[in-house]
Amino acid sequence: MNHQIVTLKPGLYFVATPIGSARDITLRALDILASADVIAAEDTRAMRRLLEIHGVPLGDRPLLSYHDHSGAPARDKLIRFLEAGKSVAYASEAGTPLIADPGYHLSKDASDAGFLVTSAPGPSAVVTALCLAGLPTDSFHFSGFLPNSKSGRRKGFEALKETQATLVFYESPRRLVEMLKDAVLVFGNDRQAAVCRELTKKFEEVQRGSLESLIEEFSDRTIKGEIVVLIDRGEPTAASAEDLETALKTAMETLSIRDAAEVVSKAHGVNKRKVYNLALKLKG
Ligand code: SAM
Repeated sequence: MNHQIVTLKPGLYFVATPIGSARDITLRALDILASADVIAAEDTRAMRRLLEIHGVPLGDRPLLSYHDHSGAPARDKLIRFLEAGKSVAYASEAGTPLIADPGYHLSKDASDAGFLVTSAPGPSAVVTALCLAGLPTDSFHFSGFLPNSKSGRRKGFEALKETQATLVFYESPRRLVEMLKDAVLVFGNDRQAAVCRELTKKFEEVQRGSLESLIEEFSDRTIKGEIVVLIDRGEPTAASAEDLETALKTAMETLSIRDAAEVVSKAHGVNKRKVYNLALKLKG
């Protein structure tokens, strides 16, 4: 038996569950699922299956369905359990709740009402894909799902054009090629990217290369499974002297000259000494 019955403080426990391989669940997650007074889940069938796989008895504990569009009444029901001093475990269908998944409104209402809100962290496709994509991870921007329409998707890409971070998107296999084609229109053929498919599962696949090469790779295939797309950042466009001055003045309101120069040089991709000298001039 992998789980233990533990005494949980009253409160809301967000529990991460596997994104593919069932054994990617933490022992603490199993303890919480085994011990919570109440279990709530985005998909109660998936939760029952998970409990069964890991030999965690549900017993006579309530198992309730909750997603953010269940609305206020379903949320209130869970909040009433918290008011009664109960521990409530919540899991989405797969991965980490709240990450392109329900849980935000529940988390907000429970914390606003002063209840303990805590988590049993674990798998998430965004972090797993970042480990495998071969793209920089010093800074990343998670965009979740882009809109389904072509124009919405392009607008989404345009808004991220200058972002100095690896861009991470969730995408459906049916739209992958269309999405990559739209990405080319905004970022160009040569932008490095990666497609991570079926992570942690039997047919896990990671393709890395330019957007153009990824379109070639996937165009003639029947694509199945779950997908994360990652796109490298481009070269920052040169900031004007005016932009630099404005950014420095703002930064120097709260930071030392040295720190302000560092922050602005990083944000605009401009040599640190050059920015530092400009900061000295502005200060003087
Ligand atoms: N909460 C989950 C998480 O923490 O990653 C994400 C849930 S979201 C509704 C589902 C999307 O996540 C899928 O459409 C896919 O884009 C991505 N995803 C989930 N599992 C995946 C996997 N095993 N491999 C690749 N992508 C996955």
